Amino acid sequence: MSAAFKLAGLEEHPQPTLVQVRGTLIGGDNPALIAGPCSVESREQIQTIARAVKAAGGNVLRGGAFKPRTSPYGFQGLGLAGLEYLAEAGAGVALPVVTEVLEPGMVRIVADHADILQVGSRNMANTALLKAVGRSERPVLLKRGMAATVEEWLLAAEYILAEGNRQVILCERGVRSFEPRLRNLLDPAVVPLLRTLTHLPVLVDPSHAVGRRDLVIPAACAAVAAGADGVMVEAHSNPDQSLTDAAQAISLAQLEELAHKMRSLRLALHSGSLAS
Ligand code: PEP
Ligand code: MN
Repeated sequence: MSAAFKLAGLEEHPQPTLVQVRGTLIGGDNPALIAGPCSVESREQIQTIARAVKAAGGNVLRGGAFKPRTSPYGFQGLGLAGLEYLAEAGAGVALPVVTEVLEPGMVRIVADHADILQVGSRNMANTALLKAVGRSERPVLLKRGMAATVEEWLLAAEYILAEGNRQVILCERGVRSFEPRLRNLLDPAVVPLLRTLTHLPVLVDPSHAVGRRDLVIPAACAAVAAGADGVMVEAHSNPDQSLTDAAQAISLAQLEELAHKMRSLRLALHSGSLAS
């Protein structure tokens, strides 16, 4: 199996990859907190949320400008204006920003505005897009496809690495299951499993996994306890009014609570009380 992951695997590269984005290190000892709305909805909205992410001690601001919606009639994002608002809001609070890129032809413009390029679950196997982000200078946050095996996911990462971009961050976001009460199924064990296969940093997105506001914090804590390099959550100043993914948007007060719990967990993990 190792030969399949020539670049993502541990054989040639046993030490963990650390991705440095401005002041933030993804893959070090401290789990990163990436937070922000599902979609950038307005200049004011992203600025308000950016200030809250910063105040909570978050490390990266997220926000979708181009949204891969299930329905063609759903809000598709603000597009270029959304990218500009996101970049401005991130700069305003000195946080790097991550946003999704949907098409190879858009990689350059998204990279001009974002510090990290997100390849979403629906595009994990889009090899043209993987190659295009592989030619970019920007780190890539690669979501797991919603029905992808770990092997398929690592091979998707391999496409990016093979183009010369070695800054790939994996992000688990749950997979389809038979359980209708949860949006997807989150298996925190995928984090230690990936540690046996790859040197790439591993994030977990509990928001798209559980799909419910009340379950995001415990799922995020499970991911951190399992050793994730960070979590990415959807947070909103007015969660019920979110234009996309309202059901899973946590409030800014919940974001603060999550940040606090992550700090406690980190201390517990570092103090050795949870270490093996
Ligand atoms: C997102 O993070 O906004 C998103 C669309 O996630 P996923 O690709 O995991 O569905
Ligand atoms: Mn979303």
